[in-house]
Amino acid sequence: MTTATAEALSDAARAFVASAPHKLLIGADWVEAADGRKFETIDPSTGEGICEVAQSGSEDVERAVIAARSALEGSWSKMPAAGRGLVLYKLADLIEANAAELAELEALDNGKPVTMASAVDLPLAVAHLRYYAGWPTKIEGETIPVSWPQMFCYTRKEPVGVCGQIIPWNFPLLMATWKIAPALAAGCTVVLKPAEQTPLTALRLGQLIQEAGIPDGVVNILTGDGSTGAAIVEHPGVDKVAFTGSTEVGRQIGETAGRMLKRVTLELGGKSPNIILPDADIEAAIKGSFQGIYFNTGQACNAGSRLFVHKDQYDTVVSALADAARSARVGPGLEKDTQFGPVVSSEQHDRVLAYIDAGKQAGAEAVAGGDGAGEGLSNGGYFVPPTLFANVTDDMSIAREEIFGPVLVAMPYDDLEEVARRANDTEYGLAAGVWTRDVAKAHKLAAMLKAGSVYLNVWGPSDPAAPFGGYKASGFGREMGHANLDAYLEVKTVWTSLSEAAPSAAVG
Ligand code: ADP
Ligand code: MG
Repeated sequence: MTTATAEALSDAARAFVASAPHKLLIGADWVEAADGRKFETIDPSTGEGICEVAQSGSEDVERAVIAARSALEGSWSKMPAAGRGLVLYKLADLIEANAAELAELEALDNGKPVTMASAVDLPLAVAHLRYYAGWPTKIEGETIPVSWPQMFCYTRKEPVGVCGQIIPWNFPLLMATWKIAPALAAGCTVVLKPAEQTPLTALRLGQLIQEAGIPDGVVNILTGDGSTGAAIVEHPGVDKVAFTGSTEVGRQIGETAGRMLKRVTLELGGKSPNIILPDADIEAAIKGSFQGIYFNTGQACNAGSRLFVHKDQYDTVVSALADAARSARVGPGLEKDTQFGPVVSSEQHDRVLAYIDAGKQAGAEAVAGGDGAGEGLSNGGYFVPPTLFANVTDDMSIAREEIFGPVLVAMPYDDLEEVARRANDTEYGLAAGVWTRDVAKAHKLAAMLKAGSVYLNVWGPSDPAAPFGGYKASGFGREMGHANLDAYLEVKTVWTSLSEAAPSAAVG
């Protein structure tokens, strides 16, 4: 970590970083990896190492699964539903109390603006835990009116068991809470693996989980890379896998889960279409579309990365977006006036720049960005200024593939049926947006678009109560709401014959 970076941190955040090398949370204990391996987490604003964390191997996965199983069958199952709710509320309160430190750690490790982490990631994480804290006392079975005479039939909802949860680097703490909150509400236990690019807030979360009084072994935290993730997925003691990340890895996890018949939910990539109809409030549409793609430096699975504008307004919209993109304040996450931070890693930086090159090679025109890091930002950080491509055709790789960076492609269209067809012509189906003042057209398109979320005159709102997830290659199952709670529950049907009176009843 550079001196300047260290000075930008509060005492609390600096002390947390300084307590490295960070260990794994397994059961009650913070332990080194069994084979002693470690890796360095990198500051994407400078390219410098921040600190070391443990690299878990299969022996650590084994120990974590044993701890999770023992908590599942022991302390956690003995805690009443109301108790599970209380510790989740307690954890939410602790996150809120330590929000400033967590936001700094997120900005440091991920590169996102600390102001955004404070305004978005932290409050959403707290809200998520509070929403699911209300659920444990509302998980009810049913009495089933079966047609058998003298039969009592009911259902019980039981926790699926030990859950392997693997999360990405774009919203590290928020994704951790998206995963653990429904699992814990349902009574499951967890082996959580944060992304290797951004392990810090999950480790701080582990300390708060202990402070909240969540029993030992209910949440185990293993830092490590894809090999750690694969070992979790393959472990026979893991009953369910919940994954958020790339479609490529999601396919592999889906295959393994299928072979082993594990429960699985997958929240994967997208190439979400954003459609501006001619009658839209154009100013609002431009503002919303800008945030829809460039928010979090384009590193959001539901980024509105394909913009369709009616041909009559195409030039106006593209030039307004290009102006806004050129005046964006790109900079280090810890600087207070930064609007967009760097991308998360050198690998991601190379990947995004390769897509920008491919777009130019294919004949698209970069009307904003497109020249790599831009002036004043080449201090080793992984910066990519907001980039906007015009002259794009639907078949170009920049129009088809998920870039996961600040790159928008803008394409003109003629009529509604045509734009709906082109919007749906993708393997993905996470989100879609429509900007219009015409209620009929809005809802007609909402029905036509094949996506898990449709945004009308807004882009990307999120609430713990509202289901979120993908059609097609964008995933399997839903995050949020009771849909995600159900993903952590098995339904057991209990049949009871009432036909023979029990001996004591016979006497009576
Ligand atoms: P990206 O390529 O953008 O980093 P990934 O899908 O590779 O996205 O990563 C998301 C999460 O999945 C991370 O925690 C990563 O370590 C993990 N991961 C990567 N490869 C595998 C794998 N083969 N099996 C399980 N988890 C994996
Ligand atoms: Mg990967």
